[in-house]
Amino acid sequence: MSEKLLHIAGLGKAFGGNVVLDGVDMAVARGEIVGLLGPNGSGKSTLLNIATGFEALDRGSIVFDGTPIEKLAAHRIVGRGIARTFQLPSMPTRMSVMEVAMAASTARHGVWDTLLRPAPARQAEQAARDKAARLLRELLLEPVRDLPAAALSGGQKKLLGIVCALMGDPQMLMLDEPTAGVHPNLRNDIVQALLRLNAAGMTLVVVEHDMHFIQSLCTRCVVLDRGRIVASCRPDELASNERVAEAYLGA
Ligand code: ADP
Ligand code: MG
Repeated sequence: MSEKLLHIAGLGKAFGGNVVLDGVDMAVARGEIVGLLGPNGSGKSTLLNIATGFEALDRGSIVFDGTPIEKLAAHRIVGRGIARTFQLPSMPTRMSVMEVAMAASTARHGVWDTLLRPAPARQAEQAARDKAARLLRELLLEPVRDLPAAALSGGQKKLLGIVCALMGDPQMLMLDEPTAGVHPNLRNDIVQALLRLNAAGMTLVVVEHDMHFIQSLCTRCVVLDRGRIVASCRPDELASNERVAEAYLGA
């Protein structure tokens, strides 16, 4: 067990001639809640996409829990213990909230298991159902579990995205703007849910703009500006950090 759960070194990425990440070094220790900040277009989502295998990097290395992961496909990275949510989750119209959560289960039981080993297959299905029910309760979606997922509010869809990410029991959860477009009342609920997950041992990396959210959640903030890390500090130190001010003023 390494103390640094995630270690990104010299990460570079360009789209065409557009250099989006320019030598990013970033480490996340077990148990931290790191806020990843920076102006629009500074490379935050690209960094998450690369760390979770949704985009390939051009150069650099990413080590998670002692293992290089930069060449792994997204589903293998999930298997190693990093889950993510998306900036704009979209939900299927025909499936209920419960069914969407169940569909994210990583328990592998195919038709042969069902035919040849029916009891274990049923047990695995029941375990996934119990886990989905527990996570839906923890993330305040119990009252809507039988509604079509597409009928949820934007904020509830974000919560369901978190439920789906948690179905695989990740060690680290990366969230891309979990409160963008979410009603302010629900934002505090999301903070509380994330704090409970962290208290249970989950490491979190959160891309977010809402400073109140950041202050009430994060143990440390990392600030990206034009593909480079310009600050790493406590949330209460952001306001007095000149590099951070420069990044947001575009100086
Ligand atoms: P942020 O999340 O910080 O707002 P992004 O990582 O989404 O920033 O984008 C950083 C830059 O990379 C932007 O200029 C964006 O247009 C560009 N970019 C992101 N993804 C792609 C892509 N798949 N193809 C081409 N350009 C991209
Ligand atoms: Mg983004």
